[in-house]
Amino acid sequence: MNFSKSKYCQYCQCPKILWLNKYKPEELKPDPSAEERFEKGNQVGDLAMELFGDFTEVTAYDENGKLDLSKMIENTNECLKNGTVNICEASFSSGGLFCSCDILHKESDGYAIYEVKSSTHVSAVYITDITYQKFVLEKCGIKVTGTYIVHINSNYIFDGKLDVQKFFTIKDVSALVEEEAKKRDIEADLINATQLCDCKDEPKYDLSIKCRDPYVCGFWDYCSRHLPKPNVFDVYSMNFSKKIKAYQDGYFEFGDVRSAVKLSEMQKRQLDFVLHNVDEHIDKEGIKSFLDTLSYPLYFLDFETMQLVIPEYPNSKPYQQITFQYSLHYIGKEGGEIKHKEFLGESGIDPRRSLAEQLVKDIPTDACVLSYNMSFEKSRIKELADLFPDLSDSLMKIRDNVKDLIDPFHKGYYYNKAIGNSFSIKSVLPAMFPDDPELDYHNLEGVHNGSEAMTLFPKIKDLPQDEQAVARKNLLKYCELDTYAMVKIFLKLVEISK
Ligand code: SF4
Repeated sequence: MNFSKSKYCQYCQCPKILWLNKYKPEELKPDPSAEERFEKGNQVGDLAMELFGDFTEVTAYDENGKLDLSKMIENTNECLKNGTVNICEASFSSGGLFCSCDILHKESDGYAIYEVKSSTHVSAVYITDITYQKFVLEKCGIKVTGTYIVHINSNYIFDGKLDVQKFFTIKDVSALVEEEAKKRDIEADLINATQLCDCKDEPKYDLSIKCRDPYVCGFWDYCSRHLPKPNVFDVYSMNFSKKIKAYQDGYFEFGDVRSAVKLSEMQKRQLDFVLHNVDEHIDKEGIKSFLDTLSYPLYFLDFETMQLVIPEYPNSKPYQQITFQYSLHYIGKEGGEIKHKEFLGESGIDPRRSLAEQLVKDIPTDACVLSYNMSFEKSRIKELADLFPDLSDSLMKIRDNVKDLIDPFHKGYYYNKAIGNSFSIKSVLPAMFPDDPELDYHNLEGVHNGSEAMTLFPKIKDLPQDEQAVARKNLLKYCELDTYAMVKIFLKLVEISK
């Protein structure tokens, strides 16, 4: 077998990933956000090529549109011969080890490797990655004079003109690479990986912290198939390392977890409901106490946001949550009519000012507002208040009146077996309203969740006119269902509290 840098990093995470990729690829659960991440990585990679001025990119494709690695190596050699100062995607191969360097920068006595990442910090896996590159280059006879991680500067504020130098942070990781190189024997790793993948017997690697470190492994469902359902990994709000520790200690059935693991009150309730086979639990007094904190007129608010890796609007940072849409249902008085308002910005235009202006018109400053998991909505309102001082008073008053519809579920006032291991609205809604097509997110066209909304909105501006109208309609329908779902859940709580 041959190593690429991504294969090598997979091997370092868990050698079994390579074996499963070879013998059981059908068990790999697709990662829905992978394409989006890949696209962001490409945007950032393209931008970083300009960091040191003129550059030559050696990327080449074969007639089937696949990367032509041999041609890339040939192009790289050509650049090295010509003394090219900045070679992007510089590619090397030696003894079954292949790598491409994002930027190879010529220095007086050798070359420095710059590895570009679309994240905002240096993480351990990047060091493994660049250590591998340095090893391959040195095997090819290149003198490596420096190793650097180029990542996004999370404090960069876009002022209308992108400054590539300020957008990126360059971190010298030479000392970390030196340490990492001492820990690794890459050639021995290649021999081990080859032996492992040549053998048809599945290697014995049990679940461990590595299953999520550095990346969530797509073979989790396959490797955890021996566990009963539910199990320790289904416990609410418990961090993964604690779950793994309980699993490794032999506490994975709910009964064992309940007696042997330190749990929060919410977690204890969850396990007790399951262990006592409770179909539905209703604490009328608890629900009433929650409802008593609310008052009419009652507004139900939900935001949709996007996170642009390369900011496009002045006064915004990389990955900042930009609110572009909201849906608002409201009920004026008990038993009153359910009404609806909404806002959706124009793709390609900063939506924040017009959204904030409409929000303060749509919600009276003394009205009670319900959100589901309110910290998200409250944070977005605060950001808008900070951005627009003239609207700050009204926005902060709205924010102060937000209450959380998730509370009755978190506090165990209402439980229903079908809710499962998540209190998200996508779990609670179908559990409270099974088989109601009007409330089924699957029946929506085009947009079924926040991630799809987030991805679609910034792309609308590039769609043909007729597709733009459809995309906007789909976004509006999706967000409307989010707040309509909240209304239905609220009314159901009112009904069962009586
Ligand atoms: S799920 Fe865990 S044990 Fe299975 S291949 Fe992935 S990292 Fe390895």
